Amino acid sequence: QAKAQGRSRCLAFTDEMRTEPLLTLKLQSDMRRAIERDDFVLFYQPVLSLHDRRLVGFEALIRWNHIQRGLIPPATFIPIAEENGLMSDLGDWVTNTACHQMRIWQERVGAATPLSLSVNIAPTQLIHPDVFTLLDRALAASGVDVRRMKLEVTETALAGDAELLPQRLRALRERGFQILIDDFGTGYSSLSRLHRLPIDGLKIDQCFVKPMLYDPDSAAIVRTIIALGKALNLDLFAEGVEDEGSAAELGRMKCEFAQGYHFARPLPIAAADALVDALVESVAAEAAARTLSP
Ligand code: C2E
Ligand code: MG
Ligand code: MG
Ligand code: MG
Repeated sequence: QAKAQGRSRCLAFTDEMRTEPLLTLKLQSDMRRAIERDDFVLFYQPVLSLHDRRLVGFEALIRWNHIQRGLIPPATFIPIAEENGLMSDLGDWVTNTACHQMRIWQERVGAATPLSLSVNIAPTQLIHPDVFTLLDRALAASGVDVRRMKLEVTETALAGDAELLPQRLRALRERGFQILIDDFGTGYSSLSRLHRLPIDGLKIDQCFVKPMLYDPDSAAIVRTIIALGKALNLDLFAEGVEDEGSAAELGRMKCEFAQGYHFARPLPIAAADALVDALVESVAAEAAARTLSP
């Protein structure tokens, strides 16, 4: 029972994303205008280091601040943007906004502590001929240190073109972006393919993390992904950490980084800013304590 419950959620993704046809039609016509009017907004979900529970960065997650409907989640409109050729424009807005924000945080934390920002990249963005021009422009306009930017590509997206996609990722990585595979474990990447992909880390899908305390099979999958990632020298991130028990268990399994409702939900910019300020203050306080008592 727990097993069925736990793992059917890994496959329910496309059903959840199906939106009623009339709403789709309406959103479709609203979207182009919304991009021009800047009606989208990024939320920032904290990413923590599991061994000391310190903030190491954020993942940028888009929402549509719709005039009539309020905040619309990405699962409702990203597929519509993809189908209507709007994803490249929307993605360009995301990367520009994210790079700009990271530049501000970069200035604030200085060399005191590393902080990075993850951005989700849709498959259509990755194969778009303008992808490099747009990203280079976002980097130049913001002045952000590219090494603080991570790009997340889903494992499913990588099931496409076996030549073009690795080539694109390699070129992005050569620019200094870190590449993470998102929702890892739900796609079908073969080990040989994974080994040849130019990547820096794996994000373990939430559908394995959430049930890991009551479903031994899910726990075994999480443990296996961590072992695989370590063997390939990759950073490991757990998504969907909703309770302390899972956080502690992931720590014991030597997963390095985590995000989830147990730590924080995706936050509006003011709340994310406050966390960065608190981090800077605690790092400064620690440095002061060290000089006082050598
Ligand atoms: P994702 O990249 O795998 O992001 C994680 C999703 O899980 C986010 O949903 C986040 O709010 C949610 N989440 C985080 N921690 C927990 C938890 O502990 N429990 C539960 N139940 N959920 C948690 P969100 O923001 O609705 O985004 C959904 C998906 O939409 C993202 O999945 C990503 O694939 C896509 N997306 C979001 N923003 C962007 C974007 O700017 N560009 C593109 N191309 N895709 C985006
Ligand atoms: Mg992601
Ligand atoms: Mg994910
Ligand atoms: Mg996901």
